[in-house]
Amino acid sequence: MPATSSRKPYRVARSRTGLGLFATREIKKGTRIIEYFGRMLDCKIKEQDEIENKYLFELNGRWTIDGSVRRNIARYANHACRPNAESDVQPRNRKVYIQAIKTIQPGDEITYDYGKDYFNSYLKPIGCKCPHCENKRKIARAEARVAKKRAKARAEKRALKKMNGHALNGHAVLDKGRKGAKAR
Ligand SMILES: [Zn+2]
Repeated sequence: MPATSSRKPYRVARSRTGLGLFATREIKKGTRIIEYFGRMLDCKIKEQDEIENKYLFELNGRWTIDGSVRRNIARYANHACRPNAESDVQPRNRKVYIQAIKTIQPGDEITYDYGKDYFNSYLKPIGCKCPHCENKRKIARAEARVAKKRAKARAEKRALKKMNGHALNGHAVLDKGRKGAKAR
């Protein structure tokens, strides 16, 4: 169905963390991009409650969407801490949509915040790879490098001072000796 797919403003492509969802044309802020689609799980049914995978989207205390199905293209949208989209959760309709929270340019990766629970159980242990966190790590590494350089410079300065200090003391003793010699 090429006619259908070309109407969609996104495509799946390689991202920094495997695959991701990318805009193929400008997506205006507020646009509903894609539905997060999957099997509805009822937590009151034991075998459904026991299903565990990375694509579960909790609607409310009872219902969860299992988005691990292949048809759910929205599952390719990666997490970001400073995203350009968000999930519009509609528990009553049992629907979740991903919509743009800013205007997205063609070629930009479409991302949304997966939420605290997901972040803490899946991303925190391995380190979030979103651009914001990568950048934070880069800055931290650069600062650590500068701090290390400064510490080294301080240590060298201290060592030099100590050496000069010894030399000076030596002179002082010598001067005193001379003075003493003159006085006598
Ligand atoms: Zn992040």
